[in-house]
Amino acid sequence: MKLATLALLGLSSMAQAVPVQALHPDEVRFVTANAEFTLLHEMGHLLISELQLPVLGREEDAADQLGFMGLFLLHERQRDADFYAKLLDVADYWRLEWQRQNPAAPEVREWDSHALDAQRFYNLACLAYGSDPRQLEWIIQMTGLPDERAFYCQDEYQQVEHAVNWIRQHFARKAGEPAGHRLRVEYQTPPQHLPGATELLDKVRASGELEAIAERASNTFALPRDLKLIVASCGEANAWYNRISGELTLCYERILYFRELALELPRLRQQSVAGEQPTP
Ligand SMILES: [Zn+2]
Repeated sequence: MKLATLALLGLSSMAQAVPVQALHPDEVRFVTANAEFTLLHEMGHLLISELQLPVLGREEDAADQLGFMGLFLLHERQRDADFYAKLLDVADYWRLEWQRQNPAAPEVREWDSHALDAQRFYNLACLAYGSDPRQLEWIIQMTGLPDERAFYCQDEYQQVEHAVNWIRQHFARKAGEPAGHRLRVEYQTPPQHLPGATELLDKVRASGELEAIAERASNTFALPRDLKLIVASCGEANAWYNRISGELTLCYERILYFRELALELPRLRQQSVAGEQPTP
């Protein structure tokens, strides 16, 4: 069963833990994929800061690219249909955010350090398609990615892949080096009033998935100091990296929010199959 495999590599326990109602396997995959991407995007910020990676363009775009490529590294032995469906889930999260917006009061403004939700959707859809255009033409149909952009997506993907390979070569921990600094996981107890959070904590902790990802990062890169990955209740559906304290925070609320958005997925996918162009 794919979900069992996912549990070894990803954060599927985060999706399964939310008890509101039984989750459809597509919804579990959506929550898992986006929980992973959120964590890997923040790890992108962590690596940019800790390794002092040179960044051209917006750091938020670079963190999206690092997070996206992180999914490939995390699932490098598992590039099956389920994996590509996860890439679409990650792009579609931003389409859902785009569609939910009140056009009169957008949450992300033009001056923001993040790209607009619609742009993040198309950027990620382009990278997903560009990773294997011959096999993934269906991503064009599902996302409505216009030909004008799709034509260059393989080049875009290869450019990002090249950058990530360069980073891995230049900042890798040398084989045989003694264990250096580590990224360590810390769980904070969620408040009682946050429905589903306690169960979420129990399952995530029991799965050891976050520890596996932190271990992978610690073993791959020569980190300059000890860092923390904190799972906490933040009072908002958020995640961030604090470059002063060296702490990456992933909020329970963020994962629970993906659960909420997953319920809108069938409507979105119906639109895609019907060939409707995404609109807010
Ligand atoms: Zn960011």
